Amino acid sequence: MQTSMLIGGSRRDGSRPQLSVVNPYTTAEIATIPNASADEVTEAVGVAQDAFDTVWSRTSGHRRAELLHNLARLFRENAESLGRLESSDNGKLVAETVNQARFAARNYDFFAGYADKLWGRAIPLDDPRYLDYTRREPIGVAGVITAWNSPMQLLANKLAPALACGNTVVIKPSEHASLSTLALVDLVEKAGFPDGVINVVTGGGDVGHALVSDPRLGHVSFTGSLETGKRIVATASGMNMVPVTLELGGKSPNIVFADADIDRAVAGALMGIFSAGGQTCIAGSRLLVEDSIYDEFTHRVAERAERIRLGDPFDPSTQMGPLANEPQRDRVNAFISRARDEGAVQKSGMGRRTDGLPGFFVAPTVFSDVDPGSQLASEEVFGPVLAVTRFANEADAVRLANSSEFGLASGIWTKDLGRAHRVAAELKAGTVWVNTYRVSAPQAPFGGYKKSGLGRERGEEALDPYLQVKNVLIDTSNSFVDPFAVSEDPNE
Ligand code: NAD
Repeated sequence: MQTSMLIGGSRRDGSRPQLSVVNPYTTAEIATIPNASADEVTEAVGVAQDAFDTVWSRTSGHRRAELLHNLARLFRENAESLGRLESSDNGKLVAETVNQARFAARNYDFFAGYADKLWGRAIPLDDPRYLDYTRREPIGVAGVITAWNSPMQLLANKLAPALACGNTVVIKPSEHASLSTLALVDLVEKAGFPDGVINVVTGGGDVGHALVSDPRLGHVSFTGSLETGKRIVATASGMNMVPVTLELGGKSPNIVFADADIDRAVAGALMGIFSAGGQTCIAGSRLLVEDSIYDEFTHRVAERAERIRLGDPFDPSTQMGPLANEPQRDRVNAFISRARDEGAVQKSGMGRRTDGLPGFFVAPTVFSDVDPGSQLASEEVFGPVLAVTRFANEADAVRLANSSEFGLASGIWTKDLGRAHRVAAELKAGTVWVNTYRVSAPQAPFGGYKKSGLGRERGEEALDPYLQVKNVLIDTSNSFVDPFAVSEDPNE
């Protein structure tokens, strides 16, 4: 498969040797992607700046909305083929990736609605001579960097508000899953976006570094690991004072109280960790279960995990596909060995044969009696490995849930309405689900507490990083002001 980048409306193969793309189920090479040079990244930012100055910042909100709706329609029309492309790139089930293409479309539609409603405020001051008002203006060029687990959805979270607010963008997808973002190149042209408004460069971390080092950026929006997030802050904000939005990792607690609907809670625990093979930032990777139901509940989760059907992500009967790439498979296996060494009790996944399958599989693995201080309970695995720990009472559940350096998501399973609200208020996490897990919506803000991130995506809050506020103050009196007179207003 031939792919090319998009810089200023022209397709580019990249001046360095292309990178290989391996299907994680078949392990065969299916494509190559361009590997941009630093000069090509600089060029992309330059054309994006030019398109911002000359075209996009002068395009009406109404027109920007039309183009975003066009893009949404194209995502919907092509959801099936985009989903299949993404599944062949990162191994996620086709049902999920097709759904993510539709979710992306919904996001483009949602933010299109804001494009012609970005007004400021008239602010009454103490002195009626003065008219004061704000303008909300775009920030210019946004640098957008995404991870490999859900490229279409992660991109839509950033691209939709950035464009709606009148910014141009340079996108750098993960080198492990760039195909759906490169397919966007066709859709951008068909939707009618002017050249240079949306640019795509591909390659590894060095390409991302070249992008975030560019002082002309007005904002960087990043989804990926904590370690890379720290490097990006040091480069973009540390060197150039460019603001950064970060969507990072998680170690999310899924808390089951004894009064929960147990059947639903078992399903929620499984969905929380084994959907997408655990390769989601919001994975409910720490299952906290109340003492009185702990043994029975853990047994039911482990027993069902053992029966999850592994296989081809294109086969509709498959329930879990491979991990997205070989290094990730090896990393997850290292976590499993370490958890055994640290004394956790393995309840599923031992001896299950995955070597008959061609791809990078890890069996769904449940560990019980996990020490809250162990590696498995504290570090993000990003794979199908569940750490189960018992708790004594509500306060104990909250204490354990909050004992992580991360704070992305959390789940509560209870029939007690008062408890649901009490615990939701206590949890240090950007998302709390009650009697459900993993549900997201374009209207609902999403982001992390603590080391899970900075800023919010989706919802109205997602507009803020892509706009800057200008205050305009006008003296309407037309009267002469003595330059040496002392004002009564201490702020003058
Ligand atoms: P990663 O940090 O390795 O890479 C993410 C992106 O950053 C890639 O495009 C990569 O090429 C680029 N990159 C690497 N080094 C860079 C540098 N120095 N400067 C600029 N860019 C650089 O993450 P990953 O392995 O692709 O993704 C997995 C991680 O992403 C997990 O930690 C997961 O929790 C997180 N994630 C978070 C969310 C969220 O919304 N919070 C969603 C999905 C994934």
